[in-house]
Amino acid sequence: MHKIYLVDVTNRDGVQTAKLGLSKLEKTMINIYLNEMGVFQSEAGFPTTRHETNYLLASLELAEMGVLKPIHLSGWIRAIPEDVEITYRYVPNIKHLNLSISTSDQMITGKFQGRKKRHDIIKDMTEALDASLAHGAESVAANAEDASRTDINYLIEFGLAAKEHSATRMRYCDTLGYDNPFTIYENARKLAEKVALPIELHCHNDLGMAVANSIAGAMGVIDGGQDAYINTTINGIGERAGNADLIAVILAITKSKGFNEKYKLGGDIKLKCGSKIAKFASYAFGVPIPINQPGVGANAFAHASGIHADGVLKDPENYELYNYKELGRGEPEFVETGRQICTGEYSGISGFSHVMGNLKVPVEFPNRDKANEILELARYANVESQRPLVEDQLVFIARYPEIARKLLTLTPLA
Ligand SMILES: [Zn+2]
Repeated sequence: MHKIYLVDVTNRDGVQTAKLGLSKLEKTMINIYLNEMGVFQSEAGFPTTRHETNYLLASLELAEMGVLKPIHLSGWIRAIPEDVEITYRYVPNIKHLNLSISTSDQMITGKFQGRKKRHDIIKDMTEALDASLAHGAESVAANAEDASRTDINYLIEFGLAAKEHSATRMRYCDTLGYDNPFTIYENARKLAEKVALPIELHCHNDLGMAVANSIAGAMGVIDGGQDAYINTTINGIGERAGNADLIAVILAITKSKGFNEKYKLGGDIKLKCGSKIAKFASYAFGVPIPINQPGVGANAFAHASGIHADGVLKDPENYELYNYKELGRGEPEFVETGRQICTGEYSGISGFSHVMGNLKVPVEFPNRDKANEILELARYANVESQRPLVEDQLVFIARYPEIARKLLTLTPLA
């Protein structure tokens, strides 16, 4: 039976968002949380972008150490052979890639201005695929940018060419959020049937339908006889109006009327990590979670009006579709309201040791040198993120100082 897998693109589409960004340590924490949650793949970053090199190399090292396992860490590049060459020069051991190129006439004409025609697009993409596989890539997906505005017959031709050149998957990008659940279902189903490759659904929220389109697309892919891969971002952060929200996608698949009977999530997705990952992404991006956000918003389980409150007190199922505990909510939160010792880029050893000793799982250092070493890394992490580190980040630095050192090395490289 075909299933739905999740490919989270927070560390790619999310960080591409105007006015937003993440430090490399924050991106790493997101990979760790996604792995913990059972997400199939994290589109971890941009292998051709120089300031990503140390982060990507360190992430692959974490994968080898078993810290980022079994999650697939993938890179996003343009589907041109030059990008593949640069990728393997900077990040030689990257195993998973998404190669992206525009396929709609609007973009072929509007972006390439006559320099490329439809057949050049397929040529670039297949050459890039060949080059990636020659360099040892284990999985490569061919992304059709602006697929929803692309002539479906050309899209099928694109997909068949990708398949002939051993692509693992094809990505259907609703780049402008133009589809609706009915149109994406039709297209996704046709592609799955005619191309016979697993299909990724990459949906944007410009018309408020990213989540609905993602699950309708996945339904089309499965009805067409293939596995579906939904692209998500945490809290829906992404270009313009954003992408399909990770938590809402999981909820829609598992809780919406009858959907789960035929269309199931692949792998062991732990929704229980939902609250934690949403809160961390909100903190790291500096973007509050809307109070009415599905599952994780402050009001998602709040009731005030008489009839609702009375109903939910008698039986929560009167007014709640699912339980807050399923998202890992309900634990009391400790917020310091008195004296606070924080870590920052100018912290000293005494304050730092105090903070580390007061974590939920306290970190003690064997000697002062070791404490100084970790403090120095924590200071640099603060310089990079410009906000106090959360407990998990401090623990990460203490546990993997060598990896942290690499993540924090941002010297412009030649
Ligand atoms: Zn996108």
